[in-house]
Amino acid sequence: MKITELVSKIQGEFKISPFRILKILSKIEDKDISFYLKESQVEISQRTFDFLVKHLKEGYPIEYITKKVSFLGNDFFVDENVLIPRIETEDLVILAINLINDKGIKHVIDMGTGSGVIAISIKKQLPKTKVQASDISESAIKIAQYNAKKLGVNVEFKIGDCLDPFLKEIHEVELIISNPPYVETSFIEKSHLLSYEPRISLDGGADGQNFFKKISKYSHLLKTKYLLFETSEFTVKKTAEILSEIGKIQILPDSFKKERFIFISPYR
Ligand code: GLN
Repeated sequence: MKITELVSKIQGEFKISPFRILKILSKIEDKDISFYLKESQVEISQRTFDFLVKHLKEGYPIEYITKKVSFLGNDFFVDENVLIPRIETEDLVILAINLINDKGIKHVIDMGTGSGVIAISIKKQLPKTKVQASDISESAIKIAQYNAKKLGVNVEFKIGDCLDPFLKEIHEVELIISNPPYVETSFIEKSHLLSYEPRISLDGGADGQNFFKKISKYSHLLKTKYLLFETSEFTVKKTAEILSEIGKIQILPDSFKKERFIFISPYR
């Protein structure tokens, strides 16, 4: 169908501006918006039209349509097996990179890596740092491995939960980083926007703290390390309390000034 026909159909059904329609289209088809403005006679495929409707009607994420997300300037493959990385997580990686540089950290692990954005972005910027990553989901690990290969970096990926896959080498690790599942179950159940992403990558249990409670059981192994976690602005204080035994806690904001990150450094 012609773009003019598409715009009038979508506008009639969804009451959104032609500009927004073109913006979504340009994301789905990976073209600049000016292309559609110049070429008003361009043909749009039925497949693209159906995706656009699915996105508008059901909130289906565009990133799962295009199978792509840009993170700190690199394109990563994503599909329904992994969480779509959020822009706030770029802040987490920038904090980690600064910390690794400042402290001369040589060995980092990323737990619950999903598509691998955190581990791969760190390794890409700091090729000399040893980076390992884990995920409980085998299909996530396959995607992370694919992304690492595509971006030409060497990260070691392991299947497993939390710290389990790293217990052998834990004494060598200097920084532990994670964007774990931290959303409260009831919040996920209310939000149709989160319904397409893997539940295990989001669901932190009734109070959102399941992952952090697990980590706190290992506090005897972690007291000499740096830890950096993403969490939710709504539960960050509770998380800080749970982890306080490990070390000195700082709560750091994201670029939107939301209290989102927990940074733990050794007492001493
Ligand atoms: N930031 C995500 C969201 O609120 C959650 C990511 C996570 O649980 N790790 O949609």
